Amino acid sequence: MQRESQITGTNFDFVDAMSGEEDFAIAFTANVMKLHGKSLDSASNREKYLALADLVRTFLSKRLADTEAAYRQEQKKQVYYLSLEFLPGRLLAANLLNLGLQQVCEQGLRRLNINLAELIDQEEDPALGNGGLGRLAACYLDSMASLGLAGHGCGIRYRYGLFEQRVTDGYQREFPDNWLKEGRNEWEYRRPEETMNVRFGGRVRTIANGKLHFIHENYQQISAVPYDIPIAGYQNEIVNTLRLWSAEVDVTYQACTFDRHGKGCINVIADKHATESLTDTLYPDDSVYEGKLLRLKQQYFLVSASLQSILRKHVVNKADLRLLPEKLSIHINDTHPSLAVAELMRLLLDEYGLGWAESWDITTRTISYTNHTVLPEALEKWPIDLFQTLLPRIYMIVQEINERFCRELWDMYPGDWQKIKAMAIIADGTVHMAALAIAGSHRVNGVSAIHTQILKQKTMSDFYQLTPQKFLNITNGVTHRRWMLLANPDLAQLICEAIGDRWIANPDELQHLLNFAHDNSFCCAMAKVKFANKLRLAKYIQAKYGIAIDTCSLIDSHIKRIHAYKRQSMNVLHIMDLYNRILDNPHADIVPRTFIFAGKAAPGYYKAKQTIKLIHALAEKINHDPLVKNRIKVVFLQNYNVSHAELIIPGSDVSEQIPTASMEACGTGNMKFMMNGAVTIGTLDGANIAIWEAVGDDNIFTFGLTADQVLAYYRNGGYNPWDIYHQDLRVKTVMEQLVNGFFPYPEEFRAHYDAFLNQGDHYFVLKDFAQYVEVQNKLANEFINTELWQKKCIANVAHSGIFAGDRAFAEYALSVWDLAERPPCLRQH
Ligand SMILES: *Cc1c(COP(=O)(O)O)cnc(C)c1O
Repeated sequence: MQRESQITGTNFDFVDAMSGEEDFAIAFTANVMKLHGKSLDSASNREKYLALADLVRTFLSKRLADTEAAYRQEQKKQVYYLSLEFLPGRLLAANLLNLGLQQVCEQGLRRLNINLAELIDQEEDPALGNGGLGRLAACYLDSMASLGLAGHGCGIRYRYGLFEQRVTDGYQREFPDNWLKEGRNEWEYRRPEETMNVRFGGRVRTIANGKLHFIHENYQQISAVPYDIPIAGYQNEIVNTLRLWSAEVDVTYQACTFDRHGKGCINVIADKHATESLTDTLYPDDSVYEGKLLRLKQQYFLVSASLQSILRKHVVNKADLRLLPEKLSIHINDTHPSLAVAELMRLLLDEYGLGWAESWDITTRTISYTNHTVLPEALEKWPIDLFQTLLPRIYMIVQEINERFCRELWDMYPGDWQKIKAMAIIADGTVHMAALAIAGSHRVNGVSAIHTQILKQKTMSDFYQLTPQKFLNITNGVTHRRWMLLANPDLAQLICEAIGDRWIANPDELQHLLNFAHDNSFCCAMAKVKFANKLRLAKYIQAKYGIAIDTCSLIDSHIKRIHAYKRQSMNVLHIMDLYNRILDNPHADIVPRTFIFAGKAAPGYYKAKQTIKLIHALAEKINHDPLVKNRIKVVFLQNYNVSHAELIIPGSDVSEQIPTASMEACGTGNMKFMMNGAVTIGTLDGANIAIWEAVGDDNIFTFGLTADQVLAYYRNGGYNPWDIYHQDLRVKTVMEQLVNGFFPYPEEFRAHYDAFLNQGDHYFVLKDFAQYVEVQNKLANEFINTELWQKKCIANVAHSGIFAGDRAFAEYALSVWDLAERPPCLRQH
């Protein structure tokens, strides 16, 4: 009894006093009671999860406050990472790991006969991002906190995340992702007192009395309320924040005027909902620009609320303003938050009264920008009329930035109108966001060596020639703590037994695993871990889809957004060809394989959705054909998200990374697979090239056109897919099968057929097909040589340290944000 009062009194005493699993069990039981008014026996798993999360948050909150105080005292430079998307994954397990509470919690719960894994499974997986870009932002938050850098995320608290994907009859259907069912998220702190006001529409009046003043009138003002999610560093006491903004209207003081329809307060509430819908949903397009007013509104909402709150926190007097670039960095994740350039200018000019030259100098030294794509359909361009109507003052500032920029260009390239027009921020009736981002930043980085090279030589070559010192490459990285320790604890344990645990803080140390490549017992233990992970995946697939997969088969996974350039369809054509070999010769000697697909298609992207249908049609045929004798299985896992990735990746033998060369800026899925000992089959694009350089020819399967070759075809033509159709019988067969009734829907895949043959095969699927089949065969033959294969797996894990987010962020700290302290992982170099 006495113990109980000791720990339930104030939770903070408890944080310091808690000594073991018994304390934890008592505190947890008390928290269930406090939160739900129920005894442990009558609480559901969901209620137990919420009580546990709440308890863990107690630990976070104290460290959050302490970290903030320490930063203030040390006057540490802060980094604000602005992103329209964050895909953090579930947080309970990550927080337990980072706080060092994993063991005490697991054992404490076991005393109460509760399985921690079952509670972890109760957490929603917040889908506040589309894919790689949002996941990268989340990985970087983890790395920044773990490196002890004061780096915080700024994003939007979407009421509904990316749609939930369900497949019926092979067709994707979209459902709202209602992740805030209880109206709140268990990790967040709502901070209404730090609400910011964001203004839209209206008009700007200019007054000249010695100096120009800009009066913004008749605007619509929307309140932005921040919700802070704590982000813990790995066992280092640091807790940073991810601040998510929500559009909210407080109607407490709005009089209800009863009109002649007698509607009164109904109208006020209806207006409230209409306004708040600003942050209702995330746009579901990955790498495709959607020129919708609401999207631009979301972008400005995020940028304006974030910058106002950042300045309010850091600026007390004018001297502070001038030191802004020394006090903080603002980083923009792709062009989506690039209005930050104009908004920072607005605040400095209009709110703080600085002059143009000084404001511009401060702005450009504070802001930096990462480019994520060279796909033309992804480049954001806003029509002037839409932009100007929504953001009149911001438009004036962009105009002025553009005029001054073009004057500078004129001095550099007198008379070269074509060049100036190509680089202008405003041209052809549109505002070019990439040009704004480059002009307004002191650093611009690409995300892999080849991507940066393409930026410099092609997409942004004019800007590169103008200001070469701005451009640099920082290859992406992922948090190995989530993707190894959390997703694959058995592997992490095995590695620790072999080389100690220093690799957790210092992933380069994974290299020491190379010493074990010839150690039989280690190789055996690795194989066992992989098998256990394959079994875990197989059980999930059996339970969820009723499909039995052979855990000894080669598990080949292609999991990512469905997009023509990512070429899921090429994978499908190969499987069809493999199947044709069995149809031709039922006794064909084929290495048993399981092909796993997962990924969402943008709801308006017909071809991608048809690719999902094609995968299902193929699965339907192959999985039920007795002739196949279970040598091939095809599985599509629905609603791909971070939790699914954590399940699939550790249980895969082969990682499919087969985009058309030059189109995947970097990729991060490829890195996660590598860390978990899967071997890549890939084209020479993005980070695949860096993986290839790290592991060497023997430990990766590369094929296909190079980026240079692809770009040369686009420039000069000379590729006709019909030539391949006529030369390669396998290609002819699979093409005919798309439309000849082989699948029970003869017209269903006509669009694919036409794209491959009649529309020039823009993504070079047929061109790369023969080589792809060849390396697939080679790979399968090497897979059955278990000893050889195990060495490849070890080499992949051992060389994956450079793809840790820690390395990437240490590079940002050094070369982009100019943070004084050198993070530990760069100190030794
Ligand atoms: C890593 C990840 C991605 C990005 O995968 P790519 O293969 O790089 O496209 C997308 N979605 C989720 C859920 C991820 O975890």
